[in-house]
Amino acid sequence: MKYILVTGGVLSGIGKGIIASSTAMIMKSMGLRVTSIKIDPYLNIDAGTMSPFEHGEVFVLNDGGEVDLDLGNYERFLDVSLNRDNNITTGKIYNLVIEKERKGLFLGKTVQVVPHITEEIQQWVERVAHIPVDGQEGTPDVCVIELGGTVGDIESMPFIEAMRQFQFRVGEDNFCLLHVTLVPVLGVVGEQKTKPSQQSVRELRALGLSPNLVMCRSTQPLSTETKKKISLFCHVAPENVIGVHDVSNIYRVPLLLYQQNTPNIILNRLKLTPKVDINCVK
Ligand code: ADP
Repeated sequence: MKYILVTGGVLSGIGKGIIASSTAMIMKSMGLRVTSIKIDPYLNIDAGTMSPFEHGEVFVLNDGGEVDLDLGNYERFLDVSLNRDNNITTGKIYNLVIEKERKGLFLGKTVQVVPHITEEIQQWVERVAHIPVDGQEGTPDVCVIELGGTVGDIESMPFIEAMRQFQFRVGEDNFCLLHVTLVPVLGVVGEQKTKPSQQSVRELRALGLSPNLVMCRSTQPLSTETKKKISLFCHVAPENVIGVHDVSNIYRVPLLLYQQNTPNIILNRLKLTPKVDINCVK
């Protein structure tokens, strides 16, 4: 099982969900079987009790699970049918840990965020990643995990820490990290600014996660100069800086990823062999 984690920096609503779904889709187009998990670091058990004015419409899964809209993106991009467990929330994890504590399953130990909450998160991810969602038998090849919120938020800290541990649990070759950042343009000069990306990657690395690819949202395509600068300051190769500019239709995002060789970069990183002729995919 290969895991692709997608985190986001700078601000929310940056297009992390679309980039995660598009990444899952390009992996599927390589002939791989893909599943996905969305992590929402809020205390609600699920999105069913949240106002649509606050959070957008609730997406209802086939099993009745009331979840975040992003699960809808995954179902549409991947043509799969997800289950309620594919959406992890802080509420679900704490609920589970507290239930176990009441049953005495921790054998008198002090129950703590590290290691108990972080362990429960990792077990949940591993368990759900192995469940097929495409109607076929057998384990999927790849699981895309999208971590909601922005790196540095108090809410997402237990999940970041869990993923930091997880990269060692599953091994380096099985874990690829994509970090989505914003490259704004300021003033009449129209210069693409890399500082927010630098700072959010620095914050992520300080928490023990170093991105393999930096995905940059911007209004216009990223210039070569901008890519070089982000590469220099964010500890990634220039070709691993991927520009995802505003497009007229979100279904064009997978094409942007193809054009910048993202499938090959991820396949090489994860030592995966495509199950189709990669040149035919485009
Ligand atoms: P996040 O997961 O970071 O909160 P989403 O993936 O939900 O963000 O995207 C936020 C909004 O931006 C959505 O309405 C989505 O359709 C739009 N969006 C995302 N990426 C692009 C893009 N490259 N071009 C145009 N619109 C986009």
